[in-house]
Amino acid sequence: MRAVVLRRCGGLDALEQLDWPRPEIAPGEVLVAVHAVTAAALDVDLRKHATERHIQLPRVLGLDPAGVVEQVGAGVTRFRPGDRVAIGGVVHCGECERCRRGDDECARQQVIGLHRDGGQADYVAIPEGNLVPVPDGIALPEAACMALTYPVAWNLLVNGGRLHAGRRVLVMAAGGGVGVAAIAIAKALGAQVIAAAGSAWKLDLCRELLGADAVVDYTQPGWSEQVRAWSDGLGVDLVVENIASEALFGEAMESLAHGGRLVTCGAHGGGVVSLDVRKLYLRRQAIVGCNAAPQSAVEAVWEAVADGRVPPPPIHDRFPLERIAEAHELIEARRNFGRVALIVRTEQGDPA
Ligand SMILES: [Zn+2]
Repeated sequence: MRAVVLRRCGGLDALEQLDWPRPEIAPGEVLVAVHAVTAAALDVDLRKHATERHIQLPRVLGLDPAGVVEQVGAGVTRFRPGDRVAIGGVVHCGECERCRRGDDECARQQVIGLHRDGGQADYVAIPEGNLVPVPDGIALPEAACMALTYPVAWNLLVNGGRLHAGRRVLVMAAGGGVGVAAIAIAKALGAQVIAAAGSAWKLDLCRELLGADAVVDYTQPGWSEQVRAWSDGLGVDLVVENIASEALFGEAMESLAHGGRLVTCGAHGGGVVSLDVRKLYLRRQAIVGCNAAPQSAVEAVWEAVADGRVPPPPIHDRFPLERIAEAHELIEARRNFGRVALIVRTEQGDPA
């Protein structure tokens, strides 16, 4: 089968398109004929730094494939060939302490396309429990573009952020995959949203496409004052953050109301920041880390999309698998708004 395989770290030439063995399915696994998958910032990071991040190579990339069930392994009960499916999040080990006590956050969770082979290929093998049916009316490229980011954003907002209707939310990196998802979901949950990004065209799309109530350019000094002004001088109840850069983190904290929460799931901007702990405790604020979404968040967000409460994501651009290098260039230059889809098969199931 065709596959994008990372055998070493490097530039665009490290994205090798090889004829690779089709995955064997173990009991409980499903073989999915991939129709679409994203190319994401995490893929770019892996291409450059997989070895430093202790990711075993070679690895087939692709975090969030969506496609059609080709074959099911022994013991699979929920899916049959022909079903339209997407990955629901991370793969749980089923054996660790947390899995055994029925916790929905596994201690040894695996991310597809990171810790096991992913979906930038003609086929991918996925445990049955990690697949979700794609609702009618959602195209498979849309399903791929929401498969990872929507559960993560739901988890940040609802579980980490305790979001309620009427609350005010600041979404940082608003043009990124998680940012776009967070705005769409927060609006659907009845929150008021101010979107923060570094370019005017992305901020325009946040308003026009996603319904953000206000926008702020965080390359402008003192931008947190604009956020406070928008929130009646009080600051926002919740900040959704995944940049963690020294330049922006302090202002993000200054945007936060007394008793507010900052939730974070990423460190694209470096990951090490200063924190004024006096302000944190005097203002009774919380900083909450969230990782991949638990199964409960996966189910909740797909249900919300299926019944039309949350809109599917916009797709910035689509590339056939063999043009993956162009997708990486686009993402690396931050010229994308939301997700970039790789199209592996046409709607009819022919190789794209
Ligand atoms: Zn586990």
